[in-house]
Amino acid sequence: MFTDLEMKRQEAPSVAQRRVFIRTFGCQMNEYDSRRMLESLRPEYTPVSAPEDADLIILNTCSVREKAEVKVYSLAGRLKHLKRRRPDLIIAVCGCVAQQEGQRLVERMPHIDIVLGPQGIYRLREALAKVRAGEGPVVDTDIRDDFCLPSALSPEVKAVKAFVTIMQGCNNYCSYCVVPYVRGPEISRRPGEILAEIRALVSQGVREVTLLGQNVNSYGKRQPGFPTFAQLLERVAQIDGLWRLRFTTSHPKDLSPELMRAFVEIPILCEHLHLPVQSGSDRILAAMNRGYRREDYLKKVERLRELVPEIALTTDIIVGFPGEREEDFQATLDLLKEVEFDEIFSFKYSDRPFARARSFPDKVPEEVKEERLATVHNLQLEISRRRYRRLVGQEVEVLVEGRGKSDPRQWTGRTRQNTVVNFYGGQDLTGKLVKVLVEEACQHSVRGRLVGTLH
Ligand code: SAM
Ligand code: SF4
Repeated sequence: MFTDLEMKRQEAPSVAQRRVFIRTFGCQMNEYDSRRMLESLRPEYTPVSAPEDADLIILNTCSVREKAEVKVYSLAGRLKHLKRRRPDLIIAVCGCVAQQEGQRLVERMPHIDIVLGPQGIYRLREALAKVRAGEGPVVDTDIRDDFCLPSALSPEVKAVKAFVTIMQGCNNYCSYCVVPYVRGPEISRRPGEILAEIRALVSQGVREVTLLGQNVNSYGKRQPGFPTFAQLLERVAQIDGLWRLRFTTSHPKDLSPELMRAFVEIPILCEHLHLPVQSGSDRILAAMNRGYRREDYLKKVERLRELVPEIALTTDIIVGFPGEREEDFQATLDLLKEVEFDEIFSFKYSDRPFARARSFPDKVPEEVKEERLATVHNLQLEISRRRYRRLVGQEVEVLVEGRGKSDPRQWTGRTRQNTVVNFYGGQDLTGKLVKVLVEEACQHSVRGRLVGTLH
């Protein structure tokens, strides 16, 4: 027997009533893609926060690591019972797992109506129309070599900060990585479109923008007439009303002197660089096809710190890459001690479809990977704590993002170096630039007290 509410949900919703639930897995690029998908569905669909309340459920997926992919399969499986109760519900799996699995997804899970790869998500409306016309399931995993982001913009961002994708795909083929296969070749977005999107965001109240790409340092290199990445940063920095600018990710092999100087020359460019090193061992870096040696990386870090002593550095580390011996792992630990990153993201290596390392011999046993991950994690906790302790007693500039997550009486925001700062203060400070006196260092953040408002 259905309850009244369930009976109501059985009826096909009218256009004005349609509701969408979206769950995003993985990186900031996926967060960006999810925002663009929601924009493309307006005004027909309004977002809701529970899958049970939605007429359309979208899972925007990540397949970079095995763990992320397993989570997607498990959630998609759990949606089966919703579909059974409400056959009119449309379920879409988008992003990298969709690209990787394609037709297999609908064969394994017939309750899925739409499968769209990272380039296909911009054809979501067409896919929905087909499903409604009874032409489903729709699987669109074509990879094109032109830029797939539509330029028509109507952002509706209520946040203080936003991501903007400036390029898609990757040509680097690191031997462990699935990205070039699921996101296609590297293509840069036209500068005029990027600038227009950022202006539109700023007019909505966005004050901080992070430019996104798998390797932003090679922006424009393959497209004649395009600016370099550093030149693009200069143009973005001219936009009135934009207070802070960031970018990610930078590949160490392509980090140019011009880009390093941008940190000195562009006042709104924040002093933080995410520079994934992956390993401290030359033997492993070569097997990973990273295109730099430990020494090259360390020289770039040294140069950056000469230019911008206060720069915060973060990185990604993979432990247990095939063939990683104890001495290779030790070299990674030594590098972490030498550089003293502010934060790191560390991962256990996992085999990925299409990636070359999948067929490499000497796989590291799971328990050794676990142990190495814990060692890296504990070492970095100590280093981060030390770095945060240095801030105690200093006044820092914070862009306030809203109420604190763990204590809603607190405000939360970030410094230019991307350190999370929680503090007590008076009236609504969201979107304000304030000065906070740091009083205490925590594990991944600092705590302090408001001493003034700047903007
Ligand atoms: N393009 C960026 C770069 O060059 O570093 C980031 C790409 S990836 C989305 C983010 C991180 O996931 C990588 O930096 C790497 O540390 C990790 N990663 C990628 N493939 C992995 C794998 N097969 N196993 C474990 N970690 C992986
Ligand atoms: Fe993957 Fe390497 Fe490309 Fe980053 S640069 S997305 S790690 S292939």
